[in-house]
Amino acid sequence: MKVSVTFTADAIEKVEIVEHAETGGISDPAIETIPGAIVEYQSLGVDAVSGATLTSEAILNAVADCVTQAGGDVEALKAAPAGEKTVEGLQSTTVDVLVVGGGGAGLSAALSAAQNGASVILVEKLAALGGNTFRCGGAFNTYDPEGQASNPMTESLSTTVENLLAHEDVSEEHAALKADVQKQWDEYKTSGRTNLFDSPEWHALQTLDAGDYLGNVSQIRTLTTNTLDTLHWLTENGVNWSDEVSTVVGALWNRSHQTTPDASGAQIVAALENAARAANVQIFLDTKAESLVNSNGKVTGAVLTNANGESVTVTANKGVILATGGFAANVEMRTKYNEEGNKWENIDKLGTNNTPGATGDGITMGLGVDANLVGMGWIQLMPLNSVSGGGISGYVNSTAFVNQEGKRYVAEDGRRDVLAAGALAQTNQTFYGICDNKEATLRMAQAALDGQVAYGMISRGETLAELAGIIGVPADALEATIAEFNDLVKAGKPDEFGRTLWENTIEEGPFYAVAFTPCVHHTMGGLEINGSAQVLNTSGEVIEGLYAAGEVTGGIHGTNRVGGNAVPDALTFGKIAGATAAAAK
Ligand SMILES: Cc1cc2nc3c(=O)[nH]c(=O)nc-3n(C[C@H](O)[C@H](O)[C@H](O)COP(=O)(O)OP(=O)(O)OC[C@H]3O[C@@H](n4cnc5c(N)ncnc54)[C@H](O)[C@@H]3O)c2cc1C
Repeated sequence: MKVSVTFTADAIEKVEIVEHAETGGISDPAIETIPGAIVEYQSLGVDAVSGATLTSEAILNAVADCVTQAGGDVEALKAAPAGEKTVEGLQSTTVDVLVVGGGGAGLSAALSAAQNGASVILVEKLAALGGNTFRCGGAFNTYDPEGQASNPMTESLSTTVENLLAHEDVSEEHAALKADVQKQWDEYKTSGRTNLFDSPEWHALQTLDAGDYLGNVSQIRTLTTNTLDTLHWLTENGVNWSDEVSTVVGALWNRSHQTTPDASGAQIVAALENAARAANVQIFLDTKAESLVNSNGKVTGAVLTNANGESVTVTANKGVILATGGFAANVEMRTKYNEEGNKWENIDKLGTNNTPGATGDGITMGLGVDANLVGMGWIQLMPLNSVSGGGISGYVNSTAFVNQEGKRYVAEDGRRDVLAAGALAQTNQTFYGICDNKEATLRMAQAALDGQVAYGMISRGETLAELAGIIGVPADALEATIAEFNDLVKAGKPDEFGRTLWENTIEEGPFYAVAFTPCVHHTMGGLEINGSAQVLNTSGEVIEGLYAAGEVTGGIHGTNRVGGNAVPDALTFGKIAGATAAAAK
């Protein structure tokens, strides 16, 4: 963060942000408001913007540095009053549907409810919409015959299908799902097709298997049969998708759709916000839901704290939709529930790439009305968490994971829990994603690549040996590993680690490396819902007036979420929740 401050003899006249490497969108509210507030109040005591506290502090620290350089009194400016925040806060009112949380699930629910004729208020506790959906890579898994038309089927991918079909029956629902896939697979084999085999049922079977058969089959089927419809709905509402359908890390199959021009959820959030506002959804930021109003077993609204710190009540005639996201940013909660599931070591000390808003509020509010929780112990670590904040892509089709010794150690196309455990076992719990120019420029614009190299966020070498020198791994080992990787791509067979997805070789310089270490990424458990996104209580009954969607819910992902399944989950069940709530009497 570089700022320029203009002083008069006794005042701060102007604060300008000259240069920064903050994450676009997340930092915007701070960049837009903090410089003006410092000048307006002649104070360094202005409040940080919620959700952009690090950026706010970076600006305040940089200005304080300038004040020192100019011979001013930093402590006096920090103590100076910074004015009262007065905004048009939400007041107590009545509406058809109240949506709590302004990420993907909440925006999708609000838009869907409004499109189905309901009056809607959406509240977001941070200063900006988006939540994890804004931060995310926007990878969206769906079966899509048109989009996948040019993805090839290979011998090793056929092995994956055969292996899952050979899995012993775990339940009647699993057996029925397998039978559906078997029929499709038999038809596929006799059809003579050479492009990728896929179907909603095959997506469902892979999702169930990846979660160790602990996901709810019926909920998974609801998800995978609706994702293509959700994708088209997003397109109608302004989201652009790349023609490239590939495999985001942990996605297990070439069905991850990527937003374009950038692989980012920011575009999904912007499109849904525009569509929701156009459909008359009222949006209130800095507004936090505290508890649900329970009238004789029916949820009829919520008590909230508005942007001015006042307590207000919203009565929701048709219901409340909880879309508050997960709890990865709540260290106490994730430490407690980790004991029931993954038992990741030192989960309290690991970082997270989540929004600070991911504190499990919806789960806590749900518990207040006897909501049932499922799968709470299953917490996902993201293996591809960039050490420097940079990164090229989360796609694994043409990337090798290499450790500090310059060796591969895992199947890059595998499950995220396996990838995370593998990474935690490497020197410094760190590894490098290595790709070549072809892959890098497919995923990112050249200017963005150059910018990240300039900021030291990613490393680039004209040759593999040069790259090895920059990242400090033995050059001969890296060259040998990549040569072997390229032979495996050409052979297209499963390798010693079980990798089956092979696409392009790593041959075209310059070469890129991104350093990664695992962090807490996704919480798979949450409120139990049914196929209509109604929340169930501990007796398995519907809680009237209460709906939920997205990461606040549990039941789909089992022990391990398939990469690229969360965004479709949030948006699909958000859409369903909005429609169900709008139709309520
Ligand atoms: C860095 C990153 C990359 C990812 N990439 C992908 C990807 O490419 N593909 C994929 O499928 N998944 C991805 N995921 C996971 C996916 O983004 C999330 O699971 C999904 O977006 C969650 O959507 P949501 O709407 O349920 O929650 P969120 O988008 O997190 O939204 C919840 C919102 O609720 C707000 N809130 C919380 N409590 C309250 C309250 N009491 N009152 C009011 N508001 C409240 C929060 O502040 C937040 O804004 C990624 C996650 C991360 C962190």
